[in-house]
Amino acid sequence: MGVSTVTAARILRGQLQGHTGEETVLEFEKFPHVGMSKTYSVDKQTSDSAATATALMCGEKTKGYTVGINDNVEFNNCSTQPGNELSCITDWFQDAGRSSGVVTTTRVTHATPAAAYAKSPNRNWEGDSAMNNAGVSLEGCKKDIAHQLVFNSNLKVILGGGRIYFLDNSTLDPEYGNLTTAYHRQDGLNLINKWKKKYKNERSRYIWKKSQFNSVHPAKTDRLLGLFEASHMQYELDRSADLAGEPSLAEMTTKAINILKKDKKGFFLLVEGGRIDHAHHANNAIRALYDVLAFEDAVKRAVQLTNEKETLIIVTADHSHVFTIAGYPSRGNNILGIMDGPYPVPTDGVPFTTLSYANGPAYRDGPRDISNVINSTFINYQQETTIPIDSETHAGEDVSIYARGPMSHLIHGIHEQNYIAHVMAYAARVGVCTFDKNEVKNRKSDSNT
Ligand SMILES: [Zn+2]
Repeated sequence: MGVSTVTAARILRGQLQGHTGEETVLEFEKFPHVGMSKTYSVDKQTSDSAATATALMCGEKTKGYTVGINDNVEFNNCSTQPGNELSCITDWFQDAGRSSGVVTTTRVTHATPAAAYAKSPNRNWEGDSAMNNAGVSLEGCKKDIAHQLVFNSNLKVILGGGRIYFLDNSTLDPEYGNLTTAYHRQDGLNLINKWKKKYKNERSRYIWKKSQFNSVHPAKTDRLLGLFEASHMQYELDRSADLAGEPSLAEMTTKAINILKKDKKGFFLLVEGGRIDHAHHANNAIRALYDVLAFEDAVKRAVQLTNEKETLIIVTADHSHVFTIAGYPSRGNNILGIMDGPYPVPTDGVPFTTLSYANGPAYRDGPRDISNVINSTFINYQQETTIPIDSETHAGEDVSIYARGPMSHLIHGIHEQNYIAHVMAYAARVGVCTFDKNEVKNRKSDSNT
């Protein structure tokens, strides 16, 4: 959700409301404090999500494709891991006796949510099959990410997709009735049953479809595991056609906050609109932008359900994408449409869309023609790109940080990405920012004298 993505989504939101669009203000753009986040990692000018999510949630930059560990660890190398696990924000909240949760539209074991609870030298080790097939010694590593989620974390709310890494290889997926043997667990564990057993003496519930989700009472539920897809959840534009039905990101966020806010000591919640990134990787801007709007709906619900005097909300992106808003389209020109201005005229005479990508899978061989752009408002349209790459890439420029609530003024300039974790810790008085009541008393008496 880089700057160009936010701008395009803002225009789309306004145009869907019948306006020209450019003047629209998204919910998180109303937040009083804004800064910029430098997203490079220890070894990459432009980072992947594992390293950026680790910076955001553990307060340290690390190496690419690794989660929850410091930069002493080499990618894919377990022997370098022992002793280099980071303590991260859900650890800090749990150490302070408070609750935490994760909500995402990706698999709950994907890079960003994983950084909230897991420690792994390879973000792709979401299940044991991926780990076993890696062809490297696993000595020194913890188990796969799904296993860590069930056995090594204490998240009260886990909502997203990713059943394939939780089901054993003799259990069929409940929605599709199939067995994805490449992903289902080789260790014979059904991690969903293990989770149910672990929390059987608490008011806990596992759900996998919308009708079950709707029946969850936050007042009567203290732990919730919801896995709504075999892999990632649907894009917002495809959600209504889902076989078993899925909640929206806003609905999941609402349920999560209503469960977590029962903890009078406070809570941490990560909410990720995780598929904005995936649609961009496919050069499919329309799905990316509708997922931004779904994320904005979730932010709106979070604002309504919390008190600005007591809850810090930070909205940011882990990294940007090579996505541009080009040409000189007129005010109100369809943001998904063809650039309508008289200028510039491409030298090949073929019109172009306002939105495009520097690289990606939608590269067209040969001379451009009108068929490249004619279907630009259709759901499966892929914008033109300059360089052929199987998956469009992330971009290295800074991304915005929007903040509201206690200590939100600490977001005020150009920040290193890992600074954000420390702002959250300081506002909540957790982690290294914990201080006991005696210390507060001492400080007060100091200032009195
Ligand atoms: Zn990505």
